[in-house]
Amino acid sequence: MNAQQFRSAAHEMIDFIIDYLENIRSRRVLPTIQPGYIREMIPEAAPERGESWQVIFQDIERVIMPGVTHWHSPQFHAYFPTGNSWPAILADILSDAIGCIGFSWIASPACTDLEVVMMDWLGQLIGLPSQFLACSGGTGGGVIQGTASEATLVALLAAKSKAIKRLKLMDPNFEESQIFSNLLAYSSDQSHSSVERAGILAGVRVRLLETDECFSLRGETLKLAMEEDRAKGFIPFFVTATLGTTPSCAFDDLSEIGTVCQQFQNIWLHVDAAYAGSAFICDEYRHYLNGLEMADSFNFNPHKWLLINFDCSAMWLKNANDVVDAFNVDPLYLKHDRQGQAPDYRHWQIPLGRRFRSLKLWFVMRSYGAEGLRAHIRQQIQLANEFQQLVAKDDRFEIPVPPAMGLVCFRMKGENSQNEALLKRINDSGRIHMVPAKLRGQFILRLAVCSRYTESHDIVYAWQEVTSHADHLTG
Ligand code: PLP
Repeated sequence: MNAQQFRSAAHEMIDFIIDYLENIRSRRVLPTIQPGYIREMIPEAAPERGESWQVIFQDIERVIMPGVTHWHSPQFHAYFPTGNSWPAILADILSDAIGCIGFSWIASPACTDLEVVMMDWLGQLIGLPSQFLACSGGTGGGVIQGTASEATLVALLAAKSKAIKRLKLMDPNFEESQIFSNLLAYSSDQSHSSVERAGILAGVRVRLLETDECFSLRGETLKLAMEEDRAKGFIPFFVTATLGTTPSCAFDDLSEIGTVCQQFQNIWLHVDAAYAGSAFICDEYRHYLNGLEMADSFNFNPHKWLLINFDCSAMWLKNANDVVDAFNVDPLYLKHDRQGQAPDYRHWQIPLGRRFRSLKLWFVMRSYGAEGLRAHIRQQIQLANEFQQLVAKDDRFEIPVPPAMGLVCFRMKGENSQNEALLKRINDSGRIHMVPAKLRGQFILRLAVCSRYTESHDIVYAWQEVTSHADHLTG
């Protein structure tokens, strides 16, 4: 393909993308194909001679689309949202064209400098304490990670390295292996599986603590656990608090947890707000951040709910040196003569390479404005409330936890098996898509408002879909 052919193919592709997204409502949200279906549809090996773009282009509809789960369909209500917007798509196109790998400042100064400023813009939008922002002139700052899982792992690894250095300073005879085996991290039994996984990857035990009746981790529970573990010779060093848990969007009590971490000293507090963090751009949800000044790191995914395409996971550190010191390996070929004047983001993350992801934050924040982004969040929460009102009117159903943000957890009164059968029927029909969760042994259905295309009539449609299957089951 040459530049001229690219121009024409790109126009065609943009038209395809616009038509795909604007008409996504008409596609079945869940595909019907079987694993491995593509092997049947394309040759067994790469072609020896190049093919024309027209032939390749036709295969998008023939081969790919039958196997796509349409995450941006207004009928997609599974997991949590993943962002999508025109300006974010434009930014990713530009990022692909620039195609830089911004591991150090000199590797592409705009990539680093824009990220520093965008993380300040975003941090200000959600009301982060100034210590987390680079513009405060202190040790804080933000970095774009690929995912919330990576952010938790980065925080855990930095905390582990800091804890080991501190303990060895206190007593040089301490064996590292002895410290490793006694280090203990904490989170709630509602936290995302990525927290446990970070523990596995970092070789650190994670103790999952019970939550209160609202599925929130409380300070007293953490305090008792850490006291008990210290008495047994363990070294508590890391806590993950979740703001907006995956099963039910519950919020840990950050003020209480932060206070306990301060009392115990030398505990790294990481805050995972992967989904709900986007809502903190709205004043009415900011109170969940009370206590954040006591945390060491904070993360949320603009690629979930802030109209940014995957991937863009925003992480802030109060003292970026903790991470840089833990991960800093500085070979000659990566050095440059401006070192120290701007972040070299390779030290803040696990991979070396990184894409120009701040472009999408820049384009989206400028295109929508804070006002437009707040309107998006509030509208999605309003749609969840509309669904909750429909459920509440049908006395065959119950709502085991109050709806939170854009998520409604609900179930048919009675046996888990009936709810499992209901969800299976719904997903088999492929007209809407939801995933379940278990809350204290109860199987629940989760309706998350995900797509920016979802409107009130889609919520009514989703409810009609649920009730028509419930009618069949209750006969
Ligand atoms: N934390 C929470 C609370 C989540 O809900 C999720 C995913 O839904 C994650 C972490 C993992 O996110 P990621 O895919 O960005 O690692």
